[in-house]
Amino acid sequence: MALSEWSKLLCDCGSDQFIQVVSLQYHEGQGTSPPRVEGFQCVSCKKKCRQDKMIKDLQLKKKKAEFEALRQEIEPEPEKVKTSDTPSAY
Ligand SMILES: [Zn+2]
Repeated sequence: MALSEWSKLLCDCGSDQFIQVVSLQYHEGQGTSPPRVEGFQCVSCKKKCRQDKMIKDLQLKKKKAEFEALRQEIEPEPEKVKTSDTPSAY
């Protein structure tokens, strides 16, 4: 698993689709401002998404996967450990 690769951020509901939420401003004499990005909203559950939280979730998920891989390396599953029939290994 390469940490440098792009990963999709996921909403709590599992969706990876978001819509941009913008605010519009008006100033007397100057008209309207360009839309200001206020955040993103999940397309599926309509919840406002917090990118920092989703990034943390993603990092945690990767760490858990790394931990699981390491754990299996250090402590192989008991059923996978074969009692060697060849004493020459010692
Ligand atoms: Zn959602």
